[in-house]
Amino acid sequence: MAKVAINLSTGALQQEEVIVGIDLGTTNSLVAYIHPETKKPVAINDLGRGTIVPSVVHFTQNGETIVGNEAKEYLTTDPANTIYSVKRLLGKSYKDLGEHKDYFGYKIIDDDSEGLVKIRAGDKFYSPIELSAEILKELRERAEHALKTPVNRAVITVPAYFNDSQRQATRDAGKLAGLEVLRIVNEPTAASLAYGIGIDPSEEKTIAVYDLGGGTFDISILSLHQGIFEVLSTHGDTYLGGDDMDRAIINYWIQENQLVADTLNEDKNLQQELRLKAEEAKKALSQQQIYTSKVNDIECGITRHKFEELIAPIVAKTIDSCRQAMGDAKLKPEQIDAVIMVGGSTRVPMVYETVSEFFGKPANNTLNPDEVVALGAAIQADILSGNRKDILLLDVTPLTLGIETMGGLMDSIIPRNSKIPTKAGRQYTTSIDGQVNMKISVYQGERDLVKENRKLAEFDLKGIPAMPAGFPKVDVNFILNADGILKVEAIELRSGVRQEVEVKPQYGLTDSQVEQMLMDSITHAREDVSARMVIEARTTAEQMLYQVERFLEKNSQHLTEEEIKMTQENLKKLRDVLPSGDKDQILKAVDTLEEQTSPFAERVMQISIKQAMAGKKIE
Ligand code: AMP
Repeated sequence: MAKVAINLSTGALQQEEVIVGIDLGTTNSLVAYIHPETKKPVAINDLGRGTIVPSVVHFTQNGETIVGNEAKEYLTTDPANTIYSVKRLLGKSYKDLGEHKDYFGYKIIDDDSEGLVKIRAGDKFYSPIELSAEILKELRERAEHALKTPVNRAVITVPAYFNDSQRQATRDAGKLAGLEVLRIVNEPTAASLAYGIGIDPSEEKTIAVYDLGGGTFDISILSLHQGIFEVLSTHGDTYLGGDDMDRAIINYWIQENQLVADTLNEDKNLQQELRLKAEEAKKALSQQQIYTSKVNDIECGITRHKFEELIAPIVAKTIDSCRQAMGDAKLKPEQIDAVIMVGGSTRVPMVYETVSEFFGKPANNTLNPDEVVALGAAIQADILSGNRKDILLLDVTPLTLGIETMGGLMDSIIPRNSKIPTKAGRQYTTSIDGQVNMKISVYQGERDLVKENRKLAEFDLKGIPAMPAGFPKVDVNFILNADGILKVEAIELRSGVRQEVEVKPQYGLTDSQVEQMLMDSITHAREDVSARMVIEARTTAEQMLYQVERFLEKNSQHLTEEEIKMTQENLKKLRDVLPSGDKDQILKAVDTLEEQTSPFAERVMQISIKQAMAGKKIE
């Protein structure tokens, strides 16, 4: 295996090996690299299949996994085993999904908890991390095939509004795909880099990045100062994009042809054909004034003028978001130095004109809007690889800093390669009723299990008021200053109890030890992630067992004998399967118990409401 050298003061990796930039998108993903001769970023087009890889994963009957265009074809024929838009689920709990859970055509496990969502396809359970890893694997393989070299390292982009757990999930997906993720970069930052903004560290700029894709819209306002991009504000709509334009065209054709919407609803093939035709019309209208075609006997004609009238409300909504983002950043349009267009839907002339008009200057649209984020990620990868001698790298932390959570897992708080000074935090809670102390163990390293990492400190947060499990809110904050000193503080928010320690993470570590720790994390990446998943499944199962057992103790009078017997059987099944270490078996048993017992909670709640009402006397 190749040796990785790392410069501790800059975090730069000193090795001539290709590092790719990846845009892991909701609908489409791309991988790019810096061409060794032209030194320009190029999106990889392997085997002439195009640069765009649809972010769709299909599981075939015989256990194969297909990704991309080929998988997309199964969206209509086998929706239960064809997963799309997985980015919307990354780092989310079922509760986070709320009203949007019906949007998905596949089964999302409803364990109605703070736990992360899981997807069921056939008899297997997948986390959004595993599914994203399948997409990343495909991109990696295409890059390796096209460039004829192994690809082990990448920079991956995420939306500016992604929170810590969504970013961590993206890192884990990379790891699972066999990639060392050098940095997670904001998509608008990558788009700016692609236009050459941010390369010169003396440049000071305020930038608006307008990103209108197929299904999502976001606007980010960034400020560039001393080589650092800062996100001033973001706004958007995660369910607005080019698909809505296609739907507007279809509705227009339905009206013009006096079709009955109900008959259309029954004819899936016709629906699909109309959808494709509408997208074709929309794209054509970006070049021409009029479009005419037919689907069976249905006239599919539309002028650009009519199209613009139909999409005016969609465009207006995006401008409202821009106004909001500008307000949040406390800026006026004239204070924006550059506007950058990202996403296929910015090819619509009306979108380009309206955005340019709002900001009072022509937007940048010379690069391919589908590729711009991946191209910028490739530039960031090149900077990190130390290939660009003209660019100064800022001080970064060479190893991840985090704390131990349930099952001995490492929960990273400040990921490696973060610029310092930096501050990050996360909220935790108790796992047992009446728990009054919480042990905070601070670790450094890249491995998923803390026992493989380096322990930096440990302290007890004492005096948490006795509350049911899950009630206390403990904020753990990591503050790493410019001298590399880490302050860790833990605060229980309800009571205000507080405790802190200070450590110097780099103390006593030589460069070669850091190097060894990085190498180990790369060699063990896959087994580490699998071990993490089993531990997570087991933790979910243990919590479920605890809750259901307590529920039975307290509320068995409201259940029938048959129900109690069934619950006990399912509890036993779960307890029996727990030591197996088989993640799918464990999650299946959790799912069965959940499905069987979830109506009980509602029933008991109704009874207690009734009792409470009955207890209230009317004077
Ligand atoms: P993205 O999610 O960024 O890949 O954007 C895909 C969206 O861009 C889809 O809704 C496409 O229909 C749309 N799109 C692609 N090319 C064009 C075009 N020439 N004119 C209008 N919309 C386009």
